Amino acid sequence: MVPVPEALETVLTETAKSLWFGSGSASTQVSVSTSSSELVGQISAADIRVPSPGYPNYNSSIMDGYAVKTSDLVEMKRLYDNMDEKERGDFRMEFVLEGKVFAGDSNTASISCDDKNGSSNGVYPAAVYVTTGAVVPNEYDAVIPVEDTTQETKKGQMCIIDDKVASVLATTKPWTWIRPIGCDIAADSIVLSKGETIQPVHMALLAQCGVDQIQVNYLPRVGILSTGNELLPSTNTDQCQNGKIPDANRPLLLSQLTTYGNCKPHDLGIISDDDSIEMLSDRLKNGLWDDGIDVIISTGGISMGEKDNMEQVFVEGMGGKIHFGRMNMKPGKPTTFITIDKEGSNGTIRRKLVFALPGNPVSASVCTELLVRPCLDLLNQGVETSEVVNSLDEQVFIRHAVDNASVHDELMATLTKDVKLDKGRPEYHRVSLQRAQTPHDKLQYSYHATSTGVQRSSRVLSLRSADGLMMLPRGGPLGCGQDVAKKGQAYPVLLYQSSSYAMRCGTRFSESMHRRMLETKVKVETSEKLHLGIVVCTSEKEEASGRLDKVRTILMDSLGGEDHVELVNRVVCDMEASYDAIAQRLNEAVCGPEMDNANVIVVVVLGKSGQESNPLPFRTGLDVSHVLRQMTTKHADAMAMRLRKAAASEDALAALFENSVGLVRNASSVLISCSDRGLGEAGTVVRSSLNHLVAMLKK
Ligand code: AMP
Ligand code: MG
Repeated sequence: MVPVPEALETVLTETAKSLWFGSGSASTQVSVSTSSSELVGQISAADIRVPSPGYPNYNSSIMDGYAVKTSDLVEMKRLYDNMDEKERGDFRMEFVLEGKVFAGDSNTASISCDDKNGSSNGVYPAAVYVTTGAVVPNEYDAVIPVEDTTQETKKGQMCIIDDKVASVLATTKPWTWIRPIGCDIAADSIVLSKGETIQPVHMALLAQCGVDQIQVNYLPRVGILSTGNELLPSTNTDQCQNGKIPDANRPLLLSQLTTYGNCKPHDLGIISDDDSIEMLSDRLKNGLWDDGIDVIISTGGISMGEKDNMEQVFVEGMGGKIHFGRMNMKPGKPTTFITIDKEGSNGTIRRKLVFALPGNPVSASVCTELLVRPCLDLLNQGVETSEVVNSLDEQVFIRHAVDNASVHDELMATLTKDVKLDKGRPEYHRVSLQRAQTPHDKLQYSYHATSTGVQRSSRVLSLRSADGLMMLPRGGPLGCGQDVAKKGQAYPVLLYQSSSYAMRCGTRFSESMHRRMLETKVKVETSEKLHLGIVVCTSEKEEASGRLDKVRTILMDSLGGEDHVELVNRVVCDMEASYDAIAQRLNEAVCGPEMDNANVIVVVVLGKSGQESNPLPFRTGLDVSHVLRQMTTKHADAMAMRLRKAAASEDALAALFENSVGLVRNASSVLISCSDRGLGEAGTVVRSSLNHLVAMLKK
């Protein structure tokens, strides 16, 4: 049985190979009309640039008002600024109207731009009435909003309202209330990039660029097949027959795939358990090679039953190769992954991928989510090769593709109730999530997870209202040692996302928690609370109290804060004593009742205060390390080394301290020793390893 993250890595590797065979990227592109409602969620195969002169392609008025020339206003402003109060009261700011341009009018050529001798009062500059969105005629370079004006239509003149004159003169500058050409989108800028998922906003941008067809990545075709003599098409209303059940998997999976937006689902119907291998494989071969199906998902007929023959159909009948046949998980153990390769006449290989999933609907749905979804994302997105293009060999390409493949976004969530752990296998437990405010910081949120109830693989209701799959470890003595995942414990959740263009964090396989479970060989990264005991070794009892608080704060913060760490006890050991006395006191402090409830005990040796240049109690440090070494079993020397390096990165003198990490108290607690120099960095670097260690401690 392969662990699920390993199965996923295999699926991604084989999927990447199929891309390699097919030219090294999402090879095929499809031309789609930008009026198609199906465009959103698809992936653009090319950069789309706005053609010159950009958008808008004319100078457009932002207001209903009057287009004017700011050069005309300069002289008016000079005169006005030099007037006394009375002259200003008599001043009239008037323009001659040259015409009107409404939004949508395209011919503005007839509008004159000459300033007029309008009346015996003197020279009036020209203005043009414009509505919002109308072309501002050439030569005019600002708009005065209609609110600031009165129109004296008889004389064909426009006049600024008296008490607005000062502000109009002060604020009307070149381009006031005008969107100049290209101001929203500069000419030649990219509004949709190659590889970008098309969102509703792109529909507007493509329209503004005048693009009517674009190239998108090919959507792989996925055939869905149900197997079993007991199945009735779900449209059949006569479901009372003994022994018959409606086919729930096809409607479930066909629609589940539709929500992904990364493929074209295709219904392959129901097949009988009694059909011959030959007949079934011939039928499926047609689908694969003639109808252009790229991926098959079959459900049922892959377990140990006498009529479970799907493996034979795919392997013997169709020449497939099995990559794994059992997964170490609940639900979905029998999941089998197969590739079928065929050499074309020109020597190229065409590859089809087959997921033979167990028949129970919950298993089928969860395994589709876990394995098929990332596979289809990779097939549809292709591999951006620019980073590896110079060293493009098959292995590099595949590693790059797998590491960068998009996988489920993840978060840690805290259980709202106890959940019984399965003693045989890790479980991908369906949970609903609720956002909760963290008690200490109102601006931060954490997540609570509630089980969707009985997780039996036939119980489709366990999928209802599920927001994700919580990765619970195998329980019992052969698993994590616990029988129950307790209320308040946090576990990683793989998030369902209902649509491909919903906000996704872009989690890549190589950096996912799911994948890290594989690396560390720890089945699940739990974040069980650390119960921290602190032993401070100091020779300065009287003045140490302030420093003790500082040590506590630094440790609590660096190990994850109050949400993750609970202070169980803090004791002080006097170092002004003989080696034997120090050894005895340390033994009592670490192994005695004071630390009964601690699963992590940190011994911190304080340097002498006020002696910045010579603060390390070198001899004491050595004595403490020596004593602790006798007490611990299973020394974690690599971790101690990391801790020392981290501490030294904050404070070089910390490198002189002999750090140690190991298990104490009959392997029920982790013991760490360090000096107070570089303590923050030391805590931070061991934090995640501590979570693992604590999860594996003897209960
Ligand atoms: P199988 O994997 O074929 O042994 O099927 C396991 C269980 O899932 C059996 O109880 C089947 O009746 C049930 N099952 C198989 N296929 C479907 C389906 N398409 N819809 C609903 N239940 C199914
Ligand atoms: Mg069956």
